[in-house]
Amino acid sequence: MVESYIGLGSNLGDRRKNIEKALELIKALPAVKIVKSSSLYESRPQGCPAGSPDFLNSVLKIKTSLPAPELLRQLQDIENKLGRKRTSQRNAPRGIDLDILLYGRQKINLPRLKIPHPRLKERAFVLKPLKEIAPRLIHSLAEEIPVISKIARMRQFIQEIKKQDKTIGFVPTMGYLHQGHLSLIKQAKKDCDICLLSVFVNPIQFGPQEDYKKYPRDLEQDRLLARSAGCDCVFYPEVKEMYPEDYLTYVEVDKISQGLCGRSRPGHFRGVTTVVNKLFNIVQPDIAYFGQKDYQQALVIKRMVSDLNMPLKIKVMPIIREADGLAMSSRNSYLNPQEREDAAVLEQSLCKAKRLIESGERDSAKIIAKIKEDIAAKDSANIDYVSIVNSKTLEELKTIRGDAVITLAVWFGKTRLIDNMTIRCL
Ligand code: AMP
Repeated sequence: MVESYIGLGSNLGDRRKNIEKALELIKALPAVKIVKSSSLYESRPQGCPAGSPDFLNSVLKIKTSLPAPELLRQLQDIENKLGRKRTSQRNAPRGIDLDILLYGRQKINLPRLKIPHPRLKERAFVLKPLKEIAPRLIHSLAEEIPVISKIARMRQFIQEIKKQDKTIGFVPTMGYLHQGHLSLIKQAKKDCDICLLSVFVNPIQFGPQEDYKKYPRDLEQDRLLARSAGCDCVFYPEVKEMYPEDYLTYVEVDKISQGLCGRSRPGHFRGVTTVVNKLFNIVQPDIAYFGQKDYQQALVIKRMVSDLNMPLKIKVMPIIREADGLAMSSRNSYLNPQEREDAAVLEQSLCKAKRLIESGERDSAKIIAKIKEDIAAKDSANIDYVSIVNSKTLEELKTIRGDAVITLAVWFGKTRLIDNMTIRCL
């Protein structure tokens, strides 16, 4: 008998019932014994067409005497029995989806069957239920990627890489990784020999009333996700080593760090530039990767690197969004279902504003008023700011011209989200 893990997902019709029915049919298979099943987990659709409903997911541990291709055939039979229609549309909503995630320790690479499931380590909706029923398995998968915590050890590691004349791509993050972070890791791995990720919730960039303590953390999941995207090593420094008690030095970029988020979060960018500077000194990357999602942050860091003659390149990557347009963010996990639904208005209002500008409107005040009206229509929304600024200087524009960016910050309940869209007016 081989131990295998099966993923179950449904985002059409009565999702709970679909999963229960699939479970019954799997139980009835003569050569399959169910050992354990996880609870049900709700998750947002990933890589699905816009407007796709949320999924309900669960993972099963089974023992089976069936060879993997035969197990797959029998699972597909169950999908068909439960009325799954196979369409040409990729990731279309489905009543039931059954995947073999793992089959013993085997690696299988057939045209229609790849095991371990190629997206296994990339998908939080599988990792969470899998962790519930097989914590040791997750732990051993996570251990495939090295984590270094001590700064001296990290320096040694970097020296070894440099000795081999290898280039280093670096992705600084606060962890709780999502596809936005993974897009940076993938790009770093494409451009450089070695991709290094840092996971550090930096206390000095949070205000006293902000969410430092409750910021989501899950290193094990981060390791799996980072590995699946091609990361070679995770730097996970300790607060007490980054900021010993007698710490005194800070780095501050003037002017462009003062407006927008800098106004709402005093000291925030000083905390960001200080930590990024320290990380650059430790990791000595050739290229560092940032997301356009944090437009002001990327600009401030670029300026710091240029003003302080730091020997590296900064690459800014596009915003990765959920199926309904919401920019991915670790903080999205704070939102309740109503807030999550309301938050889609951010991208919708930005797109609408962009269309208005493309059709000739140049008066910032009018466009900002329109965006605010759309956002204010959502009960859970509370606007921090909406601005249209020059994309290089971040100075407010009364009349839109040249390269500009529409940028905003909005509270949904107790969660502050940011988003932006660049525009070019000739
Ligand atoms: P954080 O962990 O939120 O500090 O983000 C780490 C890096 O990932 C920053 O450079 C962010 O701009 C980038 N990032 C965060 N969310 C996204 C996203 N949705 N798309 C692309 N990059 C992102």
